[in-house]
Amino acid sequence: MNKYTLFTPGPTDIPPDVLKVLSKPIFYHREENFAKLLKEVTDALGKILSSSGKIYFFTSSGTGAMEAACTNILSSKDKPVVALCGKFGQRWLELCKAYRIKPIVIKEDYGKAISPDKIEKVLKKRKSPTVLFTTLTETSTGVLNDIKAFGKITKKFNAYLVVDGVAGIGADRCYQDEWNIDILVGASQKALMSPPGISFISVSKRALKKIQTSTLPKYYFDLNIYEKFREKAQTPWTPAINVLVGLARGLKIILKRGIEKNFLYHQRLGDHTRQRVQKMGLEIMPSRPSNALTVVKMPEDIGATRIIKRVKEKYGILFADGQAELKNRIIRIGHMGNYSIRKMDRALDALAEVLNQWRR
Ligand code: PMP
Repeated sequence: MNKYTLFTPGPTDIPPDVLKVLSKPIFYHREENFAKLLKEVTDALGKILSSSGKIYFFTSSGTGAMEAACTNILSSKDKPVVALCGKFGQRWLELCKAYRIKPIVIKEDYGKAISPDKIEKVLKKRKSPTVLFTTLTETSTGVLNDIKAFGKITKKFNAYLVVDGVAGIGADRCYQDEWNIDILVGASQKALMSPPGISFISVSKRALKKIQTSTLPKYYFDLNIYEKFREKAQTPWTPAINVLVGLARGLKIILKRGIEKNFLYHQRLGDHTRQRVQKMGLEIMPSRPSNALTVVKMPEDIGATRIIKRVKEKYGILFADGQAELKNRIIRIGHMGNYSIRKMDRALDALAEVLNQWRR
């Protein structure tokens, strides 16, 4: 087993309390105690997402829930809009392509947040109500998009807003009802302080109507099947029962802290991490930074990959490298979920020391 603490932007380090409940004996998912658990998690998530939407749980990572959102809201003749500024936004595009849908693409340079004006210009030209797919927290660059502004625009043009909140939910503010988000996508392994294995979507009433008319092929993620089971507080297929037990505990910790306080807590972690890396002479990549993770550019002569390796080997701390063309060029530091200023300082001290050794 590798002995290191995760400072990666998902999966994240999770509280000992959550780890403990994961080893409880498994119970049967067609029994009343499972329904009780699912209701508890649904209620807690509804509060954290500020949502009156219906929530559906999947035994998959976040991408599964993105696929569920895509295949359930779209019909084969739809011309959606994908607004992206990184690798995870790109995933919406790839999903659409997999189902032979050709979206209109709004692409921002990596590191920049998507401009609401660009979205407005595109939606203005659409004749019938369209679907906008986008990302709250773009984990490949650390950008936080202005979903509140996007929601005002989609409302104005009667469009549907689908948001990948996988990395942001619980760390970056996101209020589903107030911001007019029709489908909000999430997963267990980020700021919700649980292990990977469960994803979910929270769906507005209006989106549910469109979903009933969807013609794209689907089976495992067919919400019409899910709805019949949701009414009984069940899932159609075998759920990741233990992960759900862990998720319930993780959400309880957030609710105990208080939802707004939890956002403030992450804001402090974000501010602190940004200040410290800037003091190390590093540049922050995102123009509009998220509080879930900090992404720093690495000078070319140093390179990210070997710094990450050294910090892991010497200090037992794991940061994440950049993905695809950003590999070796950035370091991604996760602080979503179970982190504290003290814990961040331990990781940042290690980074500073390794950097100093290289610069000397
Ligand atoms: N969207 C974002 C913004 C993410 O950060 C991730 C996970 N890194 C995902 C979606 C889903 O990825 P996965 O299927 O690996 O959970």
